Amino acid sequence: MSAQVNPDLLLNLKEFGVEDASACFNCGNCTAICSLSTESTPFPRKIIRYLQLGLDDKLMQSPEPWICYYCGDCSDTCPRQANPGEVMMGLRRYLTSMYDWTGISRLFYTSKLFEVLSLLVMAAVVGLGFYIFHGPMITDRVALNVFAPNHVIELADLIMLAVLSFFLLSNAYRMSRAVMKNGPGAQEASGKGVLFGIPLSVYLKEGKEFILQFFTQKSFGACGTRSQRIQWIVHLLMMTGYSIVFLLVVVGIRWFQRDEIYAIWNPIRLLGYYSTFGILYGVTYAFIGRIKKSKTVYEHSHSTDWAFLIMLWLTAFTGILIHFTRLLGMPLSTYYIYVIHLMIAVPMLVIEVPFAKWTHQLYRPLILYLMKVKESAARVEA
Ligand code: SF4
Ligand code: SF4
Repeated sequence: MSAQVNPDLLLNLKEFGVEDASACFNCGNCTAICSLSTESTPFPRKIIRYLQLGLDDKLMQSPEPWICYYCGDCSDTCPRQANPGEVMMGLRRYLTSMYDWTGISRLFYTSKLFEVLSLLVMAAVVGLGFYIFHGPMITDRVALNVFAPNHVIELADLIMLAVLSFFLLSNAYRMSRAVMKNGPGAQEASGKGVLFGIPLSVYLKEGKEFILQFFTQKSFGACGTRSQRIQWIVHLLMMTGYSIVFLLVVVGIRWFQRDEIYAIWNPIRLLGYYSTFGILYGVTYAFIGRIKKSKTVYEHSHSTDWAFLIMLWLTAFTGILIHFTRLLGMPLSTYYIYVIHLMIAVPMLVIEVPFAKWTHQLYRPLILYLMKVKESAARVEA
């Protein structure tokens, strides 16, 4: 079957931050230097070739863009300054939009107007919701659970979680189907107990790979130099920080949002401190890096990179302010900052989790896991 060619692919990709791919003359230096490239999944040269040829389908079926952790080694050694690391980064944005069936991701990445408006509209909806539905504002003490009862916030959180999970998981399914299309010869197998031509038992057997990759990002740690290992640790700190705070706020709100102040050694309070530190440290590190362009990986920034960092930083900062106004017994300040905090955090979650930057937190370990499943299935067949 002939492959479909998209003659405008290089042009389209510019909107996603891929600037220099046409400069590549396919020497292969980048693939030779990449510590994550393997015989079965060689990159980035092959991927750039697909891109130059306009092979959309091939790109959608390729796991390699998600295996790359953007260490920048390949960009540093490219003789044509084609910046293959940044090409892979921009390609991940493009693929995120291709796997998203709603079209929101594409709009978010390609239209600054949509990017700003979508965040502002959602912030306005949250603000309006509080304006209309907030509880009494008690002023002789901080009574956050009277102003915003945690069982109501919990219900809103769970609805939001269900909606976000639906979009994220349906997009992840589309990605998995594309990547598993060229399975290890078992595609013709179908029916009960088989997914993408591979028995479910193989998926179960390899399940630990997903958990390991998700929580440790061990492939990132395998990128060679000291500077890259620091980058991995900072990334891990930030990822664990926002994952913990997401869980605390979305499913643990009844323990996290209490009117009594927990003792300093309380595990919930300590987790809150860890998360805040992780996010602030990671985001500030990335901010400084991007402003100074101190590393290859920070030389190019898409507008959505800045939006993500700014919103994450503001979410953590307003979270700290709420903590202090509660400790200092300032009721009105606590209520107002609480609303501002949610007007930043909710739009960020609604857009970023299923449609933008946060998708890679699921897509990357999922792809690495699926590759392991393919390998395992191929071994069984051999
Ligand atoms: S991106 Fe650069 S290093 Fe890689 S194949 Fe192209 S020219 Fe060579
Ligand atoms: S940025 Fe690093 S991990 Fe990604 S392709 Fe280049 S060398 Fe490999």
